[in-house]
Amino acid sequence: MDPIDTSIFELFKIGPGPSSSHTIGPMVAGGEFIKAVQDLGPELLARASRVQVRLFGSLSATGEGHGTDRAVMAGLLGQTPETCPPEFLDGLADKDAAHNLSLPGREIALRAQDVIFDSVEHDFPFNNTLVIGLLDPDGKALFERQYYSIGGGFIHWEGRIPPKRGAPAHPYATMRGLEKIIIERGLSLNQVMLDNETAISGLPRPKIVSGLRRMIRVMDQAVARGLKADGVLPGPLGLARKAKAMFAHYRSCPQSRGRLMLALDACAFAVAEENASGHTVVTAPTCGSAGVIPACLYVMRRIMDLPEENLVNGMLAAAAVGLIVKRNASVAGAEVGCQGEIGVAAAMAAAMLAQAAGKPLKIVENAAETALEHHLGMTCDPVAGYVQIPCIERNAMGAVKAYNAMLIACSEAGNQHLVGLDQVIRAMAATGRDMSDKYKETALGGLGVSMVNC
Ligand code: SF4
Repeated sequence: MDPIDTSIFELFKIGPGPSSSHTIGPMVAGGEFIKAVQDLGPELLARASRVQVRLFGSLSATGEGHGTDRAVMAGLLGQTPETCPPEFLDGLADKDAAHNLSLPGREIALRAQDVIFDSVEHDFPFNNTLVIGLLDPDGKALFERQYYSIGGGFIHWEGRIPPKRGAPAHPYATMRGLEKIIIERGLSLNQVMLDNETAISGLPRPKIVSGLRRMIRVMDQAVARGLKADGVLPGPLGLARKAKAMFAHYRSCPQSRGRLMLALDACAFAVAEENASGHTVVTAPTCGSAGVIPACLYVMRRIMDLPEENLVNGMLAAAAVGLIVKRNASVAGAEVGCQGEIGVAAAMAAAMLAQAAGKPLKIVENAAETALEHHLGMTCDPVAGYVQIPCIERNAMGAVKAYNAMLIACSEAGNQHLVGLDQVIRAMAATGRDMSDKYKETALGGLGVSMVNC
């Protein structure tokens, strides 16, 4: 099996919510299409009349609630996920407005009706598929490309030449492989992750550490914004924001036995509500599950009293788990259900908590395994296609499970734990393959149906 050569900063990405595969990925696809168009000859470009985007699979089923139309338009108009202001996306909500799309040497109009919510059922190789075309005045495609949004904001397309990257210094593809390297080469988990990141992305260690600090800062900012915000979330559900009241409850009962859980709940809600509002979050591993790790970071800093250095170390362990899952299964709700989003976020957070507390590698692995094991089979069934119900509460439940998984792992001897992380990842992948498409971010099953039909 090829070693993992994905950068930590492809896993942790800054971007607008509410769904990395429905917002960040399509925005990147829009930008990539405009880059590809630059290479077309002037004759072809002179005949271009408009750009058309067709959304398939869960991008069609739940794309409207997820803001996929606005995200892909923003990408076509030159925005990138990391810097796109939420107001820019809000400005694309006007269905009648024409926006200037820049082609080499000229501009054409881009309108909301140029984005079509096409069939949910299709034969493309990936569930979340976009077909973007440059059309002549008769609607004939002058240039067309299929893009696949494969989860966590990652995009593929046929003929894509992957960006040049170095080979990892310590090659591994599984948890067993990582453990073998750590033992045989006498390294720590942090050393392996840092050496590999330098080899893969070319970043020196101080830049990797400052990059991780930046991710923590953006996560903290999302917590802080969400804890202050009032009102109702966008969309037809009329769901009230709850993080602020939850946090007030947490602060008003310093002696409460549920204090730690209240802190996790309030912070996870805060980020998940920010995400549902289309505001900036960090994929961890996705936007839908972006509240789990920040909630645990808050507790690590404010309740466990851990210094920043330990938080950075914890983030490296979280990245190790996320990258192993991504290589051997998936982190996309549209591919494997919510076990791949909230389940993986909880596994990453559990590993982070154990690593930051200075626990040995086996305990770090066991914490991650326990957290993921108890999300196996969890479906993705967002009501009305909005990343709100059940997603927001699921972030809080994921954070609490992560903390509990860390406690369980720290309370048993490492070798008493019989299930390995690789085994549970294989189980998750197989469960995801068997799962009906109704439960993969299409809003056609589970709560997505029972709540709407009652
Ligand atoms: S149910 Fe889970 S996987 Fe599906 S959109 Fe919500 S958070 Fe993401």
